[in-house]
Amino acid sequence: MKHKVLLVTSNQHKLSEFNEMVDNSLIELYSLQDIGFSEDIIEDQKTYHEQAIKKVEALIDYTSDFIIIADDSGIEIEAFDYSPGVYSARFKPEMTQHERNEWICQEVHKTDKTHAAFVCAIACYIKGQPIFVTENRCFGHIALKPSHDFGFGYDPIFIPEGYNDTFQTLPKALKNQISHRALAIQALMHYLKGVL
Ligand code: IMP
Repeated sequence: MKHKVLLVTSNQHKLSEFNEMVDNSLIELYSLQDIGFSEDIIEDQKTYHEQAIKKVEALIDYTSDFIIIADDSGIEIEAFDYSPGVYSARFKPEMTQHERNEWICQEVHKTDKTHAAFVCAIACYIKGQPIFVTENRCFGHIALKPSHDFGFGYDPIFIPEGYNDTFQTLPKALKNQISHRALAIQALMHYLKGVL
């Protein structure tokens, strides 16, 4: 029997990325849209795992039919003292994502601190169990310039360790194996297989 899992997101891109990486023989993913939940969950926590837990907890009293999972992610840039981190989605709001990516490359390469990491925390609630949390990093560095002027978030400027291309240009299947989100989902599936 497949277990029904609610992913606390209304973002279809995130839902399809999760669907590509979870074990679909064990779980079936649903989004907030699927259950008609449209309230905003304020992202005011200081760490990824607290933010992921907050998203999960916001849904516990709303539904009892689902295992509930939520993620929170960001990029940590060495040259910026490892910010913007948990604030990545709200970093430099006056710029477009492409302008932000170009600016980051310029600023980072004025220094010799080019390291960076993508981070993803996932929280999971199963009735009767303590909330499970995993937080995983994919290490790499910031490219000299963005590989494209389009693409998801900071993908055009992040080169994972051991490769010469950005997440934007590397094959999607490879990103789905080595990314911060892939590592967190692997840990989540390991947990679920042990508990279910
Ligand atoms: P949140 O997890 O929805 O809070 O998003 C955090 C922000 O981090 C996103 O808006 C993206 O800008 C960035 N981000 C997180 N993961 C990735 C990724 O895999 N590629 C590119 N940007 C990402």
